[in-house]
Amino acid sequence: MFLQVKDLRYSYGETEAVEQASIQVDRGEFVGIIGPNGSGKSTLLKAVYRGLVPDRGSITLEGEDLLRMPYKRSALQMAVVGQEHEIPFDFSVEEVVAMGRAPHKRLFDIDTKKDRDIVRHALECLGMEGLAKRSYLQLSGGEKQRVLIARAIAQESGFFVLDEPTNHLDISYQLQIFDLIKGLGVTVLAAIHDLNLASLYCDRLYVMKEGRVIMEGTPEEVLTAQNIYRIYGVQSSVEIHRLTGKTSITFLPEGVSA
Ligand code: ADP
Ligand code: MG
Repeated sequence: MFLQVKDLRYSYGETEAVEQASIQVDRGEFVGIIGPNGSGKSTLLKAVYRGLVPDRGSITLEGEDLLRMPYKRSALQMAVVGQEHEIPFDFSVEEVVAMGRAPHKRLFDIDTKKDRDIVRHALECLGMEGLAKRSYLQLSGGEKQRVLIARAIAQESGFFVLDEPTNHLDISYQLQIFDLIKGLGVTVLAAIHDLNLASLYCDRLYVMKEGRVIMEGTPEEVLTAQNIYRIYGVQSSVEIHRLTGKTSITFLPEGVSA
């Protein structure tokens, strides 16, 4: 087992965001978390990337207690693209990507040629070399998101934790980024909004609803019309696509029944 989250609970004051969540991820798996807005996906991911300390439950990474691990070591082991990607100062794009190198270095270490090569390579992967000197804050939402993916790549970690990593991007960049991440062969845990993307890229899905994990399985097992109705309350038509071989979902507007 690579990552194991057991009986996690977390409240923001009175709001119980995660009531009961257990998930596990094997090395090399691409695991998605789906579920309605407010179901606790981001909170669960934050606990995994140590953006918060859970009220109860355990998290282990390769068998080791993540909650007791020195921060620097856990930062080396996972690359994170969170939902709130505020970079407060006016850094350039290449400076933001270079932050991905920080866990590899000691305070005040200067960037080596190797670091600079890795940063350039990461920007090239995203087709963003031309933007290296631009101000991060002046980019569009979608460009910022791609810079943060480049930062994650520059970190050279084997585990990506992603919270709706492509929600600001048009379909061509969504596919580009998921293809890119898939091609890295890393272990992935990602909250994914779009069920068709989740189906195309994930080996396995967890479904969260009202702070609980309510289902788990392959996209084909989870994404049935009946389950989608149970999760989201919408009608859909589901088939195995003849070209992708993956579950493909068409949502049905009111008045069209399956
Ligand atoms: P999701 O990512 O599935 O949309 P979240 O984990 O962001 O769900 O939120 C779960 C619940 O916790 C929601 O009810 C949300 O309103 C609440 N919540 C999330 N973040 C905060 C916060 N910083 N303060 C208070 N409540 C929050
Ligand atoms: Mg969220």
